[in-house]
Amino acid sequence: METQLEAACKLYNTLLHAEQEEYEENKHTMNKTELRQLALDLRKQNPEFQVLHSQVAQQVADRFYEARQRFFDGLANKPKKKKPHQYLSLVYPQSGWRLSNTREVGLGKNNKRKARLRLSKIGFFTLIIHRELPLEQVCRVCVKLNPSGRIHVIFLVEEPESQEQQSEEPKNAVGVDLGIARLATLSDGRYLENPKPLERSLDRVRLLQRSLSRKRFLSKNWLKTKRRLAKEHEHIKDFRRDLFFKLGALLAQEYDLLVLEDLNTQGLIQKGVTKRRRLRLHDSAFSEIRRILEWQFVKRGKTVLAVSAYNTSRECFLCGRINQSLTLEDRIFNCPHCGFTLDRDLNASLVLLRRAGWVPSAVPVELRPIPPLPSLGLKKRRQGGALKQEAPPFRAG
Ligand SMILES: [Zn+2]
Repeated sequence: METQLEAACKLYNTLLHAEQEEYEENKHTMNKTELRQLALDLRKQNPEFQVLHSQVAQQVADRFYEARQRFFDGLANKPKKKKPHQYLSLVYPQSGWRLSNTREVGLGKNNKRKARLRLSKIGFFTLIIHRELPLEQVCRVCVKLNPSGRIHVIFLVEEPESQEQQSEEPKNAVGVDLGIARLATLSDGRYLENPKPLERSLDRVRLLQRSLSRKRFLSKNWLKTKRRLAKEHEHIKDFRRDLFFKLGALLAQEYDLLVLEDLNTQGLIQKGVTKRRRLRLHDSAFSEIRRILEWQFVKRGKTVLAVSAYNTSRECFLCGRINQSLTLEDRIFNCPHCGFTLDRDLNASLVLLRRAGWVPSAVPVELRPIPPLPSLGLKKRRQGGALKQEAPPFRAG
């Protein structure tokens, strides 16, 4: 697979180069078909590219075409030459792959569905199948090598557009305030602790980083450490996503409307006063949690509203006036105008709800943590080092 990725990367760069020359000489930009043909011709002439399946080579051309198109549309920078470590996936459009020997392995908790995948010109993979998929509707297969060495195979399935009923009037709504101390505070009084996965693995990450810096660049040991570091980061990412998906599933089951604040997270991070605060903002991954929550609601035909974030934590939910003296350190909101006292984040989530035009039936009096949720099937990972001492509070049993 590594040889293939290298060849694909080279082909991409060759196409980029050819395109530039063509433009300089003839002021002509090649269209999709021309690029595809060029990729096939290059493959024919050059034995180096023959390790690639012909459709995979065409898809490399498509990838370049799309990157260039995004540049023309003003959505991205000009496509650049790719380095081998940046080119990490291959796509098989329709042919060149076959799934066989689908079987159930293991009992009880260890039960898994496995299958054998043959990719033309690469060979066989043993897959663990995470979801049922209609094989006859698969329109492309993407095989992706993660920096940690883990390989993902992604099947893209085309489904006829469902004539789903657009959501009726939402019956209940929830406001969600995102924060560092508590990752999410819901307007019904429930909250989710911030597990800070990066901060908890920081010792380990630092250790690996230091060890990496002492190794000779691109040596065997350097690559080994690099891979271990990537694994650590990947684990942190998976942990976050798992948590966010669980929260999203829970909320989307119970509510019809989700109200979030319209945050500019990048600005927030740049404004972060101390290094520690910036790290915590990064670690909370606000844009990712928002994206996942939104997706879970939209997928179920429900609504998401983003309301202005201006002064949400300073506004009093009861009388609507602003408490100017509130600082970042104050965890309790205390209204100087009407005397209303409530937890700071809970007040903010209620204000969000009101800005979206909803009045909650009752103001929750006390906060309660969200109990651990059933697992969504994310693989449990062997834990070691700094991760061992503190079990993540959201881990399902
Ligand atoms: Zn007030």
